[in-house]
Amino acid sequence: MSRYWSPVVNQLSPYIPGEQPKIDDLVKLNTNENPYGPSPRVIEAIQSTTDDRLRLYPDPTGLQLRETVANYHSLKPDQIFIGNGSDEVLAHAFFALFRHSQPLLFPDITYSFYPVYCGLYGIDYRTVPLADDFSLRLSDYDTANGGIIFPNPNAPTGRLLPLSEIESLLSRNTDSVVVVDEAYIDFGGESAARLINDFPNLLVVQTLSKSRSLAGLRIGLAMGDSALIEGLIRVKDSFNSYPIDRLALAASVASYKDDTYFRETTQRVIDDRESLNRELSALGFEVIPSSANFIFVRHPSKNADDLAAGLREAGVIVRHFKQPRIEQYLRITVGTAEQNQRLIEALNPLM
Ligand SMILES: *Cc1c(COP(=O)(O)O)cnc(C)c1O
Repeated sequence: MSRYWSPVVNQLSPYIPGEQPKIDDLVKLNTNENPYGPSPRVIEAIQSTTDDRLRLYPDPTGLQLRETVANYHSLKPDQIFIGNGSDEVLAHAFFALFRHSQPLLFPDITYSFYPVYCGLYGIDYRTVPLADDFSLRLSDYDTANGGIIFPNPNAPTGRLLPLSEIESLLSRNTDSVVVVDEAYIDFGGESAARLINDFPNLLVVQTLSKSRSLAGLRIGLAMGDSALIEGLIRVKDSFNSYPIDRLALAASVASYKDDTYFRETTQRVIDDRESLNRELSALGFEVIPSSANFIFVRHPSKNADDLAAGLREAGVIVRHFKQPRIEQYLRITVGTAEQNQRLIEALNPLM
């Protein structure tokens, strides 16, 4: 606390990111990073952009990336917005689209950044409980609201909603914006991007941090009707006109160009998720079916806090959210086959 702070700062409760330990040789399965590096073409693109053009500001609209993404999803560039990580894109979406008199709705168990943005921007919200099996029932959202947001697949559960249910929600909920946060969609789901031309109130948010292995570069995007995108641009240009630097722009365009690498690495993560699921089930864990690059598990007779502590002693870190309903669960990122094996070996003596 400081008496020099603006008073509102005292009221903020910031998001706490998963730790980034400085110790080498840890098996880091706590922040859903991709275990494989980005495509070699991405590294080449960064290298060939690293020259004296860095004295120049980047394209404020990131047109080349917007064209690339538009092409990838059969949309138009004016239906694409890009920002410095999807966290920033989400922040702009909350400010631009969710500050209404009715409350914003989101699940009780979900990405813990959502209530943080509400706190920052003074947005009223109401959480909607997931079912006992952590499935999201979109019929529970049929109530007056100033907006709806949920991740698909949900985080930290990994559960996926079929596109047909999202489509049906959109046809019932036409007076407010529905944001689908697709941070993990490439690990087994179908993007709602193909519904954009039918629903002017749908915003789909994606990130290059997870499936495209670029968490360190900070690139996120939103796709939606051009009027929604214009609202986001107005907020962005009232805040920072150049959120994506030249290297990040070149790298992300190159990532979309190497579709083979993208498909191979995401498929490897999916296959390893299924093996990990089988091995954890064999140890007695209950595993929530996941369509993401992590799995959410609970052991019926072992305390999650003890398990997380035991794993850490063995050099494996996983995420444990000490939050009602999920305090006995661990969220484990799918690593390389070797890392997943080290996880299983570290769990064995704890069983
Ligand atoms: C990781 C994650 C994000 C943020 O991704 P960045 O683009 O790295 O900021 C957004 N939403 C969910 C649900 C995530 O898990």
